[in-house]
Amino acid sequence: MRECLYCGGPIPDDRHKNAWTCTKEHALLLKKEREANNYIKVRTTADPIIMQREHFNDLAEEFGFEVPIDLNYVSPFKIDWSLKTGTFIKEGCVGVALGDIGYIFFKPQILKIYKL
Ligand SMILES: [Zn+2]
Repeated sequence: MRECLYCGGPIPDDRHKNAWTCTKEHALLLKKEREANNYIKVRTTADPIIMQREHFNDLAEEFGFEVPIDLNYVSPFKIDWSLKTGTFIKEGCVGVALGDIGYIFFKPQILKIYKL
């Protein structure tokens, strides 16, 4: 009997042949864990500001520039709020610049991303 890589429990026979986990839920959790580990690896080997800029750029491509993004849809562990290359002013607020991309955090949990 093979063992689930996530919980160590037995993998049921009705799971597909290549399954490494006992359930789809554990497959998902395992994937998340690996992504988080990969992220930590990338973060320590790459310039964190470049990574951060990429992350905000990806978010802007998904949600759009200058539109309110609910922070609930953003992975907070990917964001280091202390990183910045400068500041800018939009809509009467001071924003955080990351190279050619910037963001402003509007309370309580709205984020807007700008092309600078
Ligand atoms: Zn499991």
